[in-house]
Amino acid sequence: MGLTDFLNPVKGFGVSFHQMFTKSETVQYPEVKKPTAPRFHGRHQLNRWPDGLEKCIGCELCAWACPADAIFVEGADNTEDERYSPGERYGRTYQINYLRCILCGLCIEACPTRALTMTNEYELADDSRESLIYTKDMLLAPLREGMEAPPHEMRLGDTEEDYYRLGLQPEDAAPTVPAEGGGRASADNAVKREKAAKGGEGK
Ligand code: SF4
Ligand code: SF4
Repeated sequence: MGLTDFLNPVKGFGVSFHQMFTKSETVQYPEVKKPTAPRFHGRHQLNRWPDGLEKCIGCELCAWACPADAIFVEGADNTEDERYSPGERYGRTYQINYLRCILCGLCIEACPTRALTMTNEYELADDSRESLIYTKDMLLAPLREGMEAPPHEMRLGDTEEDYYRLGLQPEDAAPTVPAEGGGRASADNAVKREKAAKGGEGK
């Protein structure tokens, strides 16, 4: 045994004494709630387009990416009479099982439409298994000003591409339709696009 090994127990006491004189980090939770880091992985959210339509297209990529098998998605077809998202498909059933979820964030990386993001909410404890399986209505982002609950028609463009361009920078979002008279898209849509760009997803 060398001399440094001999001093190890003394060094251990040094750490203890140091802690005794440092400022306490105790937070009186739940009365006091410290804000999380901005990119903290908390409860998920299913985002909407600025007109209220859902961004989820029911593709199940999030469920396939999940290492804990915590997501269940069932897609269905939109119809002109009953439309929940801009494209062909929407997520009819969406569940996240928070008894399984490890909040790793792989699902939000896999989502092609930024439909799924994570909030900073961390108060997910409960005393019943059923209440920890979050359903689509619990996960959907609240309706903000100017949004209407689906089903309803597409109001921000005539195609799903029009909706996806809303997330691009203005120089990338040059209209691909003739300014007048050529096709269904119109100057009206440009106004809608500009208005929509001011909206945005939950996080
Ligand atoms: S955060 Fe991770 S564990 Fe939780 S649902 Fe997403 S991929 Fe699965
Ligand atoms: S949340 Fe994203 S990845 Fe999951 S089904 Fe919906 S669109 Fe696909």
